[in-house]
Amino acid sequence: MKSVPAPDNSGEKTNLLGLDRQAMEDYFRSIGDKPFRAVQLLQWIHQRGIADFDRMSNLSKSLRAYLSEHCEIRPPSVILAQQAGDGVRKWVLQVDANNRIETVFIPEEGRGTLCISSQVGCALDCSFCSTARQGFNRNLSADEIIGQLWVAQRELSEERRITNVVLMGMGEPLLNFANVVAATQLMMDDFAYGLSKRRVTLSTSGIVPALDRLAEVSDVSLAVSLHAPDDALRNELVPINQKYPIKELLAACKRYIGKEGRRKVTIEYVLLEGVNDSPAQARALAKLLANVPSKVNLIPFNPFPVSRYRRSSPESIARFSEILQSAGLITTTRKTRGVGIDAACGQLVGRVNDKSRRHIRLQAQL
Ligand code: SAH
Repeated sequence: MKSVPAPDNSGEKTNLLGLDRQAMEDYFRSIGDKPFRAVQLLQWIHQRGIADFDRMSNLSKSLRAYLSEHCEIRPPSVILAQQAGDGVRKWVLQVDANNRIETVFIPEEGRGTLCISSQVGCALDCSFCSTARQGFNRNLSADEIIGQLWVAQRELSEERRITNVVLMGMGEPLLNFANVVAATQLMMDDFAYGLSKRRVTLSTSGIVPALDRLAEVSDVSLAVSLHAPDDALRNELVPINQKYPIKELLAACKRYIGKEGRRKVTIEYVLLEGVNDSPAQARALAKLLANVPSKVNLIPFNPFPVSRYRRSSPESIARFSEILQSAGLITTTRKTRGVGIDAACGQLVGRVNDKSRRHIRLQAQL
């Protein structure tokens, strides 16, 4: 620890929360210490939830003092915590003076899924998603992404363990590539959260080149927001389709799962009444997926103020599902959870209390 270089000249402390193993090792090397410190730090921060260097008893006093002076473990701050009748919990987190994000915990029999955000807002403008309405503000840093898991783990009691993480909150994860990859590495690192690759799922609307890059560096499970069986309709619902049409997207999915040890891609399909829920569209979808090792997750549409769609009826959802199943596709229908607290898919906007204002503002725009 002699003549230790300061990590940067900005005077700001380095937030260690978002450093994955490699970055943490690099950090310790850069201050003239041993790379194995990385593992110790990861365990204190992520396994034990400790943010105070003085409590890290297997580090020398001088290292603790150095870290206290130059580093911090700073999670996003919780500004609102809500719980729905069905046990779903939602946290609104402040990430800077102007930006908030939302994180949702969904308890189920035998597992607990945390749905986290990757960006503040979203640039993709999917017509049925309320995050799209607010536009795009900025990418989240790796510490802000993993910080959601860190905070949720601290907020939840022991019996409500987080067993799965899905990147299905606000934002398009593949448009925030490096930070998302670093955060997912931490989720899967045995010295941090130790989740298996089957329990960390990245959901994307289909940024094809980024998907190929992901295949090179990561093992996460993949979910793809398809939502339509043909390009004309998908162009309307998921406009990024104009750039990366269905055929290219499904080919990229196949390349992704073609790697050894990967299983199926989950195809997400939101059901919008009279738009994409007909039996003919179900048959077209089954045909499209015939050669893609996949399972389908049907998502009943969750309405939000000024949304122009309606949720398909339970009968159409059941009929759609049956057609897929009889074509041999494993098909599940996502349960709608967290309704009272606007915590369902596509309802996350990072707002606290101004739903009525927002409603008026949007009405005025239409
Ligand atoms: N941008 C990523 C991840 C965020 S959305 C993606 O597109 O996959 C997570 C899932 O919720 C996506 O499948 C998305 O299409 C779906 N979703 C968005 N709005 C919805 C709504 N109003 N009702 C139901 N599902 C919705």
